[in-house]
Amino acid sequence: IPALEIEGLRHSYGGDRYALEEVGFRVMPGAFTCLLGPNGAGKSTLFALATNLLRPTAGRIRIHGHDIATASGDALACMGVVFQQPTLDLDLTVTQNLHYFAALHGIGRREAQRRIEVELTRLSLFERRDEKVRALNGGHRRRAEIARALLHRPTLLLLDEPTVGLDIPARRKLIRHVHDLCTDDGIAVLWATHLIDEIDPVTDHVVVLHRGRVRASGPVSVVNAEA
Ligand code: ADP
Ligand code: ADP
Repeated sequence: IPALEIEGLRHSYGGDRYALEEVGFRVMPGAFTCLLGPNGAGKSTLFALATNLLRPTAGRIRIHGHDIATASGDALACMGVVFQQPTLDLDLTVTQNLHYFAALHGIGRREAQRRIEVELTRLSLFERRDEKVRALNGGHRRRAEIARALLHRPTLLLLDEPTVGLDIPARRKLIRHVHDLCTDDGIAVLWATHLIDEIDPVTDHVVVLHRGRVRASGPVSVVNAEA
């Protein structure tokens, strides 16, 4: 059963063109799925729909089999999201930020401390834990955002263009970390990007979005052959 299943999804912002039209694909547990498309393809719209920030004009979104239009908040609680805009406070340390978000999720202080150490360690950020976010470079900030998104132990992680503004080594490192989340924890990942060179061996499945439609879908080799 897919972690995320999208079917016949259509969205209009009111203009004469649909931002998304008949979009369908799946994100499987433990799989790294890449949503590839140029600016304007509809990636952010899809994220807003999948997180219930927008209601689709038509179509269905299921998380672990539950339609998010009718499901309780629990369906959304199994999702971790890294939006393009940062959510961490620049003047708090990494640990302070993460404690704040853990508290919002109702995680007790001691359990929060434990999880924060686990996530920072596996994202290679543990040594930075007491630095203010302002002092971190872009790659470290992104990883701190991912740690924040993992505190409530999601089974589905959505990342909207997480590598924007990062240099190539930082990008590779970020991708590797997120790939490890798939293979080690079985988390389903949907990684949106407009950069075709990010589609490297870690990607299990690629969905190519173009002008609001799925232009191709399949393993990297298949999509490369069609491109
Ligand atoms: P269909 O809807 O006909 O199954 P798809 O292109 O959705 O066509 O799927 C083709 C194959 O790829 C299926 O075996 C499916 O299980 C697999 N698949 C689809 N989406 C993903 C994904 N996000 N990750 C891994 N495998 C996938
Ligand atoms: P991407 O994230 O792939 O760059 P978007 O989802 O942001 O794509 O945009 C898809 C289409 O929807 C574009 O044509 C964009 O101009 C349009 N769009 C996005 N947000 C809005 C909005 N709030 N109001 C009207 N049109 C929008």
